[in-house]
Amino acid sequence: MGPGVDAVASSDNFPTETDVVIVGGGIIGVATALSLVQRGIRVVLLEKGTVAAEQSSRNWGWCRRTGRDLRELPLINLSMQLWENMNATLGRETGFRRNGIVYGTRTEAQYARHQRWIAEAKQHDIHSELLSSSQLREHLPQLQGEFIGGLFTALDGRAEPQKAAPAMVLKAMEHGLNLQQHCAVRTIERTNGRVNAVITEHGAIRCQQVVTAGGAWTRLLLQGLDVTLPQLKVLSTVLRTRPVDFDPGVCASFGSVALRKRLDGGLTVASSATNTADITTDSLRFSPLFMPAYWVERQALKLRLGKRFVDELVNWRPGVEDKRSVYEAVRVLEPQIDPAIVQRMREALGKVLPPLANLPVAQSWGGLIDTLPDAIPVISAVDEVKGLYVATGFSGHGFGIAPGAGQLMADLVLGSTPSVDPHPFRLSRFSDGERIRAQHWL
Ligand SMILES: Cc1cc2nc3c(=O)[nH]c(=O)nc-3n(C[C@H](O)[C@H](O)[C@H](O)COP(=O)(O)OP(=O)(O)OC[C@H]3O[C@@H](n4cnc5c(N)ncnc54)[C@H](O)[C@@H]3O)c2cc1C
Repeated sequence: MGPGVDAVASSDNFPTETDVVIVGGGIIGVATALSLVQRGIRVVLLEKGTVAAEQSSRNWGWCRRTGRDLRELPLINLSMQLWENMNATLGRETGFRRNGIVYGTRTEAQYARHQRWIAEAKQHDIHSELLSSSQLREHLPQLQGEFIGGLFTALDGRAEPQKAAPAMVLKAMEHGLNLQQHCAVRTIERTNGRVNAVITEHGAIRCQQVVTAGGAWTRLLLQGLDVTLPQLKVLSTVLRTRPVDFDPGVCASFGSVALRKRLDGGLTVASSATNTADITTDSLRFSPLFMPAYWVERQALKLRLGKRFVDELVNWRPGVEDKRSVYEAVRVLEPQIDPAIVQRMREALGKVLPPLANLPVAQSWGGLIDTLPDAIPVISAVDEVKGLYVATGFSGHGFGIAPGAGQLMADLVLGSTPSVDPHPFRLSRFSDGERIRAQHWL
């Protein structure tokens, strides 16, 4: 089971018609909905399970500029501006705190990479610092291990994944959003090449515009419309502790382990060095596109051939109007985690911060990260189908960037001046000859 998410009640009436339907009640769908209803648009948000039950509640909660792909920097700057005022705008607690993010540096090559990133980021008015080994230890005096320095951004922060999307959706409902949970979208109906209606398990909703923000399911949703999205999934493991008398101040990553303080007094502990990629038919199909990203991440990624291969082959079929779909069969993606990984994370934590050895673990869970070959999202119209949009593929860092991504998606749907240049995020980059490359700075 994932962590407990603040519950939100659905709207009472099931709509049969609206301006915009959003598929997916993760933080991206929710942020898009909020931005649209704030501009007076009628929106229905459809979620097969409950708001934020998949990636959006299972993540680390980091709102990070540090080490981002350069193409995302304008969008994360916009997002951080929105996060700064989020609690006040919503009138609710999202857990956002600007507490800084630090990455420990172990090697000279990593140090040089951080140095280059800082120089690039400065052009976007992002002022991160290179810390010496002793400056790093000023942040974390108990730190052990051979760190030659750190990459630090004081203006970065964190929020609570189990609170943020629910708080945003409640605000959107005050502006008139119609939210339907336990309402799977089976397919999207087209007439003469344009969106006409969304077909759900509870009936059709007529509309001219649809945003697909289905996280790890978006590939399948689009496949049903003959649109190819090269999207795969990576399993990541997280644990939280009971309240502890320790606050690192910053969110901190040391490669083998990462941690942050939670609003409930515990710590969220995780590691990006222990991810698992299940081999599926899609991983075979898209392997040439993903090869450069895989090469960069190969030491942190374990490939596994197991149950998921058969499950996806047999059960992950695009939905059709009059049959129960896989979206109804799997209300919430609940990946199995390996207890050995949880144990390794605890040991890694004890090694870098000895006072935290043997922490009381309250819960551990897995989340399936949806990734694209260049590890930046698609926020885009779908050229093949008029009125269809997609916001997905946030590749493990969509929580922090969600407020800006939602605003940008809303701009595109409404045809208004985009808040940031959407060109890097267009879906057609995978087919228009652009050289697809992932940037790795951390
Ligand atoms: C372990 C882990 C750690 C992470 N750490 C961070 C971090 O520290 N910082 C950060 O910025 N990001 C982080 N991320 C990434 C971040 O969580 C995601 O990028 C973000 O939550 C994606 O949001 P989403 O709305 O696109 O997808 P999701 O949250 O997955 O939501 C998609 C929703 O669509 C629904 N849906 C799908 N198909 C249908 C359908 N047919 N009908 C109706 N509903 C449907 C699903 O049920 C789901 O609720 C992490 C992710 C994980 C898993």
